[in-house]
Amino acid sequence: MTTTSLVDPSTGAPFVELELADVEQTDAAVARAVVAQRGWARLAPGGRAEVLRAFAATVDGAVEELAQLEARNSGHPISQARWEAGHVRDVLQYYAAAPERLAGAQIPVAGGLDITFHEPIGVVGVITPWNFPMTIASWAFAPALAAGNAVVLKPAEWTPLTSLRLAELGIAAGLPADLFQVLPGLGSVVGDRLVTHPNVRKIVFTGSTATGKTIMARAAENVKRVTLELGGKSANIVFADSDLERAAATAPSGVFENAGQDCCARSRILVERRVFDRFLELLEPAVRAVVVGDPFDPDTEMGPLVSRAHLTKVAGYVPDDDAVAFRGSAPTGEGFWFPPTVLTPGRTDRAFREEIFGPVVSVVPFDDEADAIALANATDYGLSGSIWTRDLSRAVRVSRAVESGNLSVNSHSSVRYTTPFGGFKQSGLGRELGPDAPLAFTETKNVFFAIDDAPEENR
Ligand code: NAD
Repeated sequence: MTTTSLVDPSTGAPFVELELADVEQTDAAVARAVVAQRGWARLAPGGRAEVLRAFAATVDGAVEELAQLEARNSGHPISQARWEAGHVRDVLQYYAAAPERLAGAQIPVAGGLDITFHEPIGVVGVITPWNFPMTIASWAFAPALAAGNAVVLKPAEWTPLTSLRLAELGIAAGLPADLFQVLPGLGSVVGDRLVTHPNVRKIVFTGSTATGKTIMARAAENVKRVTLELGGKSANIVFADSDLERAAATAPSGVFENAGQDCCARSRILVERRVFDRFLELLEPAVRAVVVGDPFDPDTEMGPLVSRAHLTKVAGYVPDDDAVAFRGSAPTGEGFWFPPTVLTPGRTDRAFREEIFGPVVSVVPFDDEADAIALANATDYGLSGSIWTRDLSRAVRVSRAVESGNLSVNSHSSVRYTTPFGGFKQSGLGRELGPDAPLAFTETKNVFFAIDDAPEENR
């Protein structure tokens, strides 16, 4: 039996020992899920809806407990962790309506009746990252269950606790046994087995682009359906005609939320050259004001990084202080602390091009609209981004020209459960959230029913 120690990122101290699943346990979980799914799919849509509503209500009663668990396991500030747990409840509530709305279509044809059905895929494997463990899990398991599937979820090695608790809450709310199972384990063991298992019919993977490519290749062996939510290096484009004070005051929240461990982090701030110096002057006090500290303090805005290994990786992008324009503060001592850090690198520098996934932002000037668009698109990623301007025509032009799945104008919003979310280019494949998400967990089947006396040519 393999075990792992989970570490509190704010102190660096281990706080719980957890058993990791192996390939045999994964196979057994999938076999149980196959059986559970058959029963769930036979349940009337209203029956599935009722259980999902009960699941949402149970999560609602456990918001504080889930938030405390996430703050301890992932180092998220408690105010943010409460929002995340509430978001899981809302996602469940939203998709609880889906079973009764997942209608097929009847198409007019001669000589019979033609119906298109949306049938459950079967068992869905969900593989999640450590940065937003419970929200990202819910984006997959809620619509998957709503569409009549079973789910086997493998959380990231470092942060499995809220997913494990959510599975228990599901059972307590009335989900059939084995319909939603969470298996903590290594990506190379449990993750890979889910990806290659012939009875897992779809994989939803959220994580790095490198792992996503491996998973897509491995899933191809069985032509397995995949949804991939991968990395990002999003641009925050600030034009001279914008409300510069607001753009600068809000820029830290666009990149330092969750200590920059956010696939939507606006980690490249592109600023029109003639207001570049002024923007930096306005940005500096906003960065210094970010409250970094104890995740359990309600005033904390930014916590520690998730692990020592990740801290080392992030620090590698800021080798010396000469590269730093200015930075905020962070606690010293134990724990995986890194301060909000602002760089003004060249366009070819590694920090400007690669996903750092930490509280490090690059601010770079551009010359005109065409240059801003070219710079924003000069990346293999295309997940999110912001455009700051008061010119509506420019906002429309630039938002249509930037190759990205989610953009916001004069804001840094990316995720709403009511709207589709996902990436262009190497930021992903497929979309999550929004009203169509349950369809991504179905196979479409068309059946033509001939009427007895219909002429043969119409059949
Ligand atoms: P990661 O790719 O290292 O790991 C993600 C998950 O994949 C983990 O559960 C891991 O155990 C598993 N895994 C690793 N190797 C595997 C394999 N060979 N087969 C199957 N599973 C395997 O990513 P991470 O470091 O946990 O997360 C950070 C990355 O996730 C960043 O690149 C970030 O941008 C991305 N991310 C994307 C989104 C999005 O919605 N687009 C959201 C959050 C995070």
